[in-house]
Amino acid sequence: MIDIHSHLLWNVDDGPATLEESIHLLEKAVNEGITGIIATSHFQHPLYSVNFNQVQDMVKVLQIEIEKNNIPLKIYTGHEARLSPNVTQLYKSFQLHTLANSNYVLLELPSYAVPLYTFHIVQELLKEGITPIIAHPEKNNEIYENPTLLEKLVRTGALAQITAGSLTGYFGRRVQKFSLDLVKANLIHTYGSDVHNLSKRPFLFKEGLAFLEKKKQLDVVDLVLENNYRVINNMPILST
Ligand code: FE
Repeated sequence: MIDIHSHLLWNVDDGPATLEESIHLLEKAVNEGITGIIATSHFQHPLYSVNFNQVQDMVKVLQIEIEKNNIPLKIYTGHEARLSPNVTQLYKSFQLHTLANSNYVLLELPSYAVPLYTFHIVQELLKEGITPIIAHPEKNNEIYENPTLLEKLVRTGALAQITAGSLTGYFGRRVQKFSLDLVKANLIHTYGSDVHNLSKRPFLFKEGLAFLEKKKQLDVVDLVLENNYRVINNMPILST
């Protein structure tokens, strides 16, 4: 299984603090059944921004550790790009990592709102051949108040990624219930752990999928896992 959203690089954002902690996360990923994982450190977040070369260099270091410790896992470069008016420009000037060098980018909206210019950015990226994947829409307050906004973004050409912990109830009952609503409305295409560390923001990767199974969403489990695989292989996404 492939995880397309994770904070694995140490001491650069709110992910692991040390290289040792990063390695523990990689070992834990294997326990969760993950075989490939994209490192999506924050980019242009109000508090954190990890630059292009730093991601590349640190992923290389982790790949060497993986081989040294015989961890059966592949790690890919990526970014979790915060929405900003210049995000397309940043992509064009090779400052923003796509997901595993594909034509997909992970796009994070502000927590409370969906700015009107989001639609323009989605169109602009699509024009460049890049499909934005909206990170954890289930945690966005404005989408919660008005789910039509996500439907409109998807109709514009964006995709959506749901977070494992949202499904397990880790972020509360409200987020859990809304996550299932979005899944049932066929507005979710991909799946990610958004892991930050082992204590406060763990993987919950298997648990999130188990929740979907319990809710009889077996087709969705297959779909999101297939699509995650398609992202790293730069193949077209299947929709429901
Ligand atoms: Fe994240």
